[in-house]
Amino acid sequence: MSDAANTELDALVIGAGFAGLYQLLCLRDRLGLSVKVLEAGGGVGGTWYWNRYPGARCDSESHVYWYTFSEELMREWEWSERYPGQAEIMRYLNFVADKFDLKRDIQFNSRVTSAQYHEATNRWQVRTEDGQTFIAKFLVTAVGCLSTANVPAIPGLQNFKGDWYHTGQWPHEGVDFTGKRVGMIGTGSTGIQAAPVIAARAAHLTVFQRTANYSVPARNVPLTAEFKKYVKQHAGDIRATTHQTYNGMGFKVDDRKAVETPPEERETIYEAAWERGGLQFRASFQDMLVSKEANDTAADFIKRKIRSIVRDPKTAAILSDIDHPYAAKRPPIDTDYFETYNRPNVSLVDVRATPIERFSAAGICTSEAEYPVDIIVFATGFDAMTGPLLRMNIRGRGSVALKDVWEAGPRNYLGLQIAGFPNLFTITGPGSPSVLCNMPVAIEQHADWITDCIKFIRAKGLERIEARPEAVDRWVEEVNDVANKTLLPLATHSWYLGANIPGKPRVFMPYAGGMIRYREICQTVAAQDYEGFALS
Ligand code: NAP
Repeated sequence: MSDAANTELDALVIGAGFAGLYQLLCLRDRLGLSVKVLEAGGGVGGTWYWNRYPGARCDSESHVYWYTFSEELMREWEWSERYPGQAEIMRYLNFVADKFDLKRDIQFNSRVTSAQYHEATNRWQVRTEDGQTFIAKFLVTAVGCLSTANVPAIPGLQNFKGDWYHTGQWPHEGVDFTGKRVGMIGTGSTGIQAAPVIAARAAHLTVFQRTANYSVPARNVPLTAEFKKYVKQHAGDIRATTHQTYNGMGFKVDDRKAVETPPEERETIYEAAWERGGLQFRASFQDMLVSKEANDTAADFIKRKIRSIVRDPKTAAILSDIDHPYAAKRPPIDTDYFETYNRPNVSLVDVRATPIERFSAAGICTSEAEYPVDIIVFATGFDAMTGPLLRMNIRGRGSVALKDVWEAGPRNYLGLQIAGFPNLFTITGPGSPSVLCNMPVAIEQHADWITDCIKFIRAKGLERIEARPEAVDRWVEEVNDVANKTLLPLATHSWYLGANIPGKPRVFMPYAGGMIRYREICQTVAAQDYEGFALS
């Protein structure tokens, strides 16, 4: 610990997105701790700082995609559209950071490269890429679930003469597609948002699709003055609703069952949901994610929609040849995605049938043909959930590496703490509802719980909290049990299972029991003096 820049803190937070900003506010302003945030980016924003790709927009509706800890803040801020776009979310997070004077305790351009727990001192020693060292009693990771970009290891990229970009590391100055031939790989939420915007500017867009995907229209619109007024007047009610819904959204899943609804009525319900747009489509019936028979009715409806929108039958067939249940992978919502394939400057390549084998100097080579392009866009996703934690080289008691403890998949208690890693908290870690929930709702619950926990530890004159191994075993079982009651594990190639990263263990990572149940469990654990944790 000899570095000149040694700084001793009560708590160190890694990441200045939604989670890190709120955690800083809680620990600094509510508990009066000395806190610093280390952030790899040059500003606040987390996922929204990096994901500046064309069309980047949130799929939660704006009136629930924000902090709710302050009704004053909810009344002060006004969203302009039904779904907030990337630039507006960045303005919001900067507004929050400035309003609560958070930036003075954030060190930007500081990527954490290691975090080591020292048993003798009960302190975490954290190092950054530029060689600085920080010492803290409590360490909180607020690194997001989707922040480690996945550029597939397809040979030959170094030979490609054009430019290439990953959507999750998009240049701040933007990319000019005018007159360019663009090849975009990936048709997840990102590719589905980016394709229409790129196609509108590029000379030609070729989309390389491996797994066909569902998408429902977002139906984004500017918010009316009336709706904005309603949101201001009902800030408290909106907050309450997000605490009463399964996934922290502003809408409830309908009580009716698809399998018990007559086909004509079901069709009318799906049609109305399609017209209304958004993630609410999956709330049309309560059995959609637990019964394959029910899910098939939604899947069939969307596949028919795709075939009715896309005029070229061959393209329509490739797009609608979807092999997993609807919403078993994260369901995208879009603006004119399938319509984009009707443009004369857009074509689709089925890389399940003809895989990408390599990149050449001129472009992308499949098993069948070479596609010359000027720009390659990788909309190929992330090493999700565990990736951002494992790349920080975290070592706990006895210098044991997190990557060894999680060799067969993530194991923790409540998604919040890992046995053998005292005083380390992970916000929206694997084993928490995180990506299955409206993120700010999950984040506020975690940060509040961590804050209360640290307050408790200090009030009792304690120094250390650590998940007990038997509590971890129980929690891993719970995470598996609740996932297995749903259709989610049936999408065997999904990033929820780590299946998008070669060699990654196949474990269903998020907690699928719903935010209400999760919140109750966390509250009970806290009320029972942190049952399942060792305190000393
Ligand atoms: P993703 O869902 O993991 O999609 C990646 C795409 O790249 C998939 O189509 C995948 O095909 C393809 N791919 C990956 N490696 C490939 C390879 N070697 N060859 C060919 N294709 C390859 O990633 P994402 O679209 O960035 O989305 C990730 C998550 O971020 C979303 O699920 C969502 O949670 C979040 N997100 C949200 C929004 C929003 O709020 N609106 C927007 C964007 C992202 P396979 O399916 O065959 O693996």
